[in-house]
Amino acid sequence: MKIRAAVAREKGAPLTLETIDLEAPRPDEILVMVKATGVCHTDLVVREGMLPTPLPVVLGHEGAGVVEAVGAAVTKVKPGDHVVMTFNSCGACPSCQDHAASYCHEFFPRKLFAARADGSSALSTDGARINGNFFQSSFATYAICHEVNVVKVATDVPLELLGPLACGVQTGAGAVINALKISAGKSFAVFGSGSVGLSALMAAHVVGATTIIAVDTNPTRPDIAKSLGATDVIDPRRANAVEQIMRITGSGVNFALDTTGFGGDPQCRGEPWCSRRLWHSRRVRAGRGDRAQRDAFHERRPSFDRHRRGRLQS
Ligand SMILES: [Zn+2]
Ligand SMILES: [Zn+2]
Repeated sequence: MKIRAAVAREKGAPLTLETIDLEAPRPDEILVMVKATGVCHTDLVVREGMLPTPLPVVLGHEGAGVVEAVGAAVTKVKPGDHVVMTFNSCGACPSCQDHAASYCHEFFPRKLFAARADGSSALSTDGARINGNFFQSSFATYAICHEVNVVKVATDVPLELLGPLACGVQTGAGAVINALKISAGKSFAVFGSGSVGLSALMAAHVVGATTIIAVDTNPTRPDIAKSLGATDVIDPRRANAVEQIMRITGSGVNFALDTTGFGGDPQCRGEPWCSRRLWHSRRVRAGRGDRAQRDAFHERRPSFDRHRRGRLQS
């Protein structure tokens, strides 16, 4: 079928809106009419050539829409169901079997190498291959996904609000609820209050954290953070974040999450003593999307190895 899609053809270049071809769903695949999609930093990173996804590619991995058709083997959803599309995983490796799909041993091929398990792509134009992304490619009018990366949602919830649940929201909220396991009465600092940071902040509020500190240099974020549950906000350009956190908490926070990819608070960067001062319990980093060039990025490959092993920190 013909679809409209935003295609990334050249590294760093604007996406081009094109009419391209999408194969019919195979027996284990689901065709979704995309109603909305989020834009994740990873989409930008791929377009900049900082990840090994081949071009041309249709990006987008925070899609939400309505099931248009299903393959004969699909039982999870049916045409007309509202769904959110999330990241793909193999469903069979030890991590997937352990309900830890984000640590799937086929992380790269299933998400970023842009193809089905047999290497083919459902996207093309005039017979020329166009690669997919996260097995959905939701920057398009229609997308194909699997049962493993589709989640059925209620039909009375606006689909345009749900796409970011598939990546940004579950990354931030999952870090708080599943990784850090923050409990009621604890203190929490989040560095960066974009979609991941704000989702973490909301989750911390939901689980009952009583001191929730958002650190961000973006002047639009403090009001948003406070409206979603932050008890304190810090702009590290205006005040020393370390001193401010110590002033607020007395002895540092119980938990911290770095969503910036820059090492959190700039006053802490490269100073382990500072981290120990601030974070006397657990901390995690979410995302590795700094503006490193390709070579510098690959020097950080050990972080992905840790990721595959299910470890948050070295
Ligand atoms: Zn994402
Ligand atoms: Zn797996």
